[in-house]
Amino acid sequence: MPRPALEVAQIFCHHGPDYRKNQRLSPGQHKAMRDIERCRTARLGGHVDVCNQGCGYLAISYNSCRNRHCPKCQSLQQAKWLAERLERLLPTQYFHCYPAPRTQSASLVQPGTRLQPPLCQRLPSSAAVCPGL
Ligand SMILES: [Zn+2]
Repeated sequence: MPRPALEVAQIFCHHGPDYRKNQRLSPGQHKAMRDIERCRTARLGGHVDVCNQGCGYLAISYNSCRNRHCPKCQSLQQAKWLAERLERLLPTQYFHCYPAPRTQSASLVQPGTRLQPPLCQRLPSSAAVCPGL
C-alpha cells in the first residue's frame, strides 16, 4: 500500500504544540497525540532485523508506539481484517441491500428484478419484498 502524502503524525508534529496550548485535552488524548508524534521515530528507539537464512539482509527500523489510536500501528491490523473479510467473499457480484419501507423499495427496485436467494434470505422479515419476484 502506498504511503499517503501527508500523515497524521506530520500534522501533529507541526500543529500539535499550538493545538495543545489552545485546547483542553484529556490525559488520554495527550498520550495519543504524543505517541502518534513519536511513532516510528528515533525518539522511540529502533531495532535491527537480520535475515536468519544467512543472506546478509539487514534492515534498521524504528519502534512503533502501539497506541490503539495510531494510524501507522493500526494499519497492519486493518489490512489483516480486510484480507480476512475478502477471503469470505464468494466469486460473484455483491449488492448492498438494506431494509426499507415498502413504498420506498417499490420505487427503487424495478418490477421483475431478481435478487440472489441467499441475499434475500438474510434480510429480516420486515424487509420489503421486491415486487415481481
Ligand atoms: Zn504508532
